[in-house]
Amino acid sequence: MKAVQYRTVGGHPEVVTVPDPEPGPGQVLLKVTAAGVCHSDIAVMSWSAEQLPFPLPLTLGHEGVGTVAGFGAGVTGLTEGESVAVYGPWGCGSCAKCAEGKENYCLRATELGIMPPGLGAPGAMAEYLVVDDPRHLVPLGDLDPVRTVPLTDAGLTPYHAIKRSLPKLLPGSTAVVIGTGGLGHVAIQLLRTMTAARVIALDVTEEKLALARTVGAHEAVLSDGAAAGKVRELTAGLGAQAVFDFVGAPPTTALAGQLAAVEGDVTIVGIGGGTLAVGFGATPYEVSVTAPYWGSRSELIEVLDLARAGAVDVHVETYGIDEAPLAYERLHAGKINGRAVILP
Ligand code: NAD
Ligand code: ZN
Ligand code: ZN
Repeated sequence: MKAVQYRTVGGHPEVVTVPDPEPGPGQVLLKVTAAGVCHSDIAVMSWSAEQLPFPLPLTLGHEGVGTVAGFGAGVTGLTEGESVAVYGPWGCGSCAKCAEGKENYCLRATELGIMPPGLGAPGAMAEYLVVDDPRHLVPLGDLDPVRTVPLTDAGLTPYHAIKRSLPKLLPGSTAVVIGTGGLGHVAIQLLRTMTAARVIALDVTEEKLALARTVGAHEAVLSDGAAAGKVRELTAGLGAQAVFDFVGAPPTTALAGQLAAVEGDVTIVGIGGGTLAVGFGATPYEVSVTAPYWGSRSELIEVLDLARAGAVDVHVETYGIDEAPLAYERLHAGKINGRAVILP
C-alpha cells in the first residue's frame, strides 16, 4: 500500500510503498478514508535525532477516519464497512487516567512504549491503518468523514482547552484566539457555540483573519506589535477572561500573558517553544497558565455530537496521497486555509 512517511531526520515527507498491515489479536484494520495534516508533524520533523522519541521511518497522520476492513481474534462489536473515527492519544487503558477516559494523560504510556498513530506508531496517512484496540474508535454514523477527520485533533484539542475555561467565559466576557489555522478556526466556532463570550481572533495575514470572521469571530486583529493595545482597547482596558494560544511561540506566549484579564486563563496549545512565567508582576493578578495536550475519549464523542448538531464546520482543503508532501509544504508556508486533509 501507499503511505506517507517521515524517513530521515531533517528530511521531507515521502510517499512510499510499504507492506499491507495485518491486524493482530485484539486489533482492528481500517481502510483509511481521510487523514488530517497537523502542524505538530512539522514540529516533529524539525526535531534532532536526540529529541525524536521514536525510530524512523514513521508513517504520518494522527488524525484518521476509516471504515472497518477486518479485525484480529477477540474483537467484538464492530461491523465490517462501519465508518469510524480514531481516538489518537492511545494509552494503556487501565491506569487511573485511562480509567477516566483521559488516555491523553496515560500514566504508563512512556513506560509501556505506547505511542499515538502517526506520532510513533504507524499513522493514518496510508491506505490502511491498524488500530491497537476497538476502544480507540468512535462511530461516525452519517457524519461526512472528510470534514470530520480534523475534529479528532483540531477539534478535540481546542474543545478540551475551552471546556476548562467555561466557568470564566460568562456573558460579557472575552475570549482571544491566537492563530486561526487548523485548530484556531475550529476553536472560534466552539467558543461561539459553547459560550456567550465575545471572540477576538489574531493571526498574521488578512486571509486568515477573513476565515476567522467567516467562522464567527466578532473581531479579527493582526498579530503585530499593536495587537496588545488593540485588544485592550476592545475590552475597555480589562483584557480577556481566556486567551488560547494556538501558536505557542515566544512572541505569542508573551502576548497571551499581556492580553489576559485579572483572574483570566492563558492556555498554551501551540508547541512553538514559547513559555510564560507566572509570578507577581509577570502576569495580571491570579492569571492561570496551562498547557494541555489533546483530549479525552468522552470529549471526542462530545465534539462529534456538536458536529452532528451542525455547530462546527471545518474548512478543509483535500489532497490525494501523492500530493501529501505538497500539503505539508503549504502548511509550513502558512498557506492552508483551515485544515488540509489527505484522501489515500
Ligand atoms: P496551523 O499552521 O494550521 O495554524 C497556526 C496558525 O497560526 C496559522 O494560521 C498561522 O498563520 C498563525 N500564526 C503564526 N504565527 C503567528 C503569530 N505570531 N500570531 C498569530 N498567529 C500566528 O497549525 P495547527 O495545526 O492549527 O496547530 C497549531 C499549534 O498547535 C501547533 O503548534 C501544533 O503543533 C499545536 N498542537 C498542539 C496540540 C496539543 O495537544 N497541545 C494538538 C495539536 C496541535
Ligand atoms: Zn496534531
Ligand atoms: Zn493508562
